[in-house]
Amino acid sequence: MTGATDSRTALVVEDERNIRDLVCLHLGVEGFACVQAENGPAALALAGSQRFDVIVLDLMLPGLDGLSVCRALRRSELNATAPILMLTARREETDKVLGLETGADDYLTKPFGVRELVARVRALLRRATHAQTAPAGVSAAKPINYRHLAMDPARRRVTRDGEEVELTTHEFDLLYVLLSHPGIVFSREALLNRTWKENTFVTERSVDTLVKRVRKKIEHDPANPDVIATVWGSGYKATDV
Ligand code: CA
Repeated sequence: MTGATDSRTALVVEDERNIRDLVCLHLGVEGFACVQAENGPAALALAGSQRFDVIVLDLMLPGLDGLSVCRALRRSELNATAPILMLTARREETDKVLGLETGADDYLTKPFGVRELVARVRALLRRATHAQTAPAGVSAAKPINYRHLAMDPARRRVTRDGEEVELTTHEFDLLYVLLSHPGIVFSREALLNRTWKENTFVTERSVDTLVKRVRKKIEHDPANPDVIATVWGSGYKATDV
């Protein structure tokens, strides 16, 4: 094991013990210190006291379900931007995961192979690490001031009317692509490729969901957006300033 023995921590939230153990076993091999939670409240209590490098979260949990946990994590102080990998039981549930503005970064359908799990977690971490050091894959990424927004890619910071806004990695990348090319229309496919990069499992619908989420955070009136405009039949663009 090289370079993987630093104290990266993963939170694994899953009520089925054998799956929880399996995930932890393999993340352990990857050098993670795994913290386990068997339900939502336990997960939120843990997430309230420490920051995790990655969170693996099952959708189907008794009591507080995975979607609610995910939303609560996104509002939490320490883990608002932690990469979240959702586990779902069926393919159709991925629509729920990506369609309800939960802020999950990726998902994995059960039953999943261990190698796929590890690959997804690695990809999420690469993005997160990359995000801290070399924003949006562009070393010369410049700060942007656009209407009431300011984006600082070096620090991955966004402010809205001077107040800091928390964006996930995907949300930040999408907004940065659009704002750095005001007036240029991007197709859903183009945005998908630029935002999710190595993940080919997301659909173009995920782009709509992501745009909706970003609008909620950065627009004065998300119902009448004046930053991200929908171009019917084509895609999205940042409105001309
Ligand atoms: Ca479950």
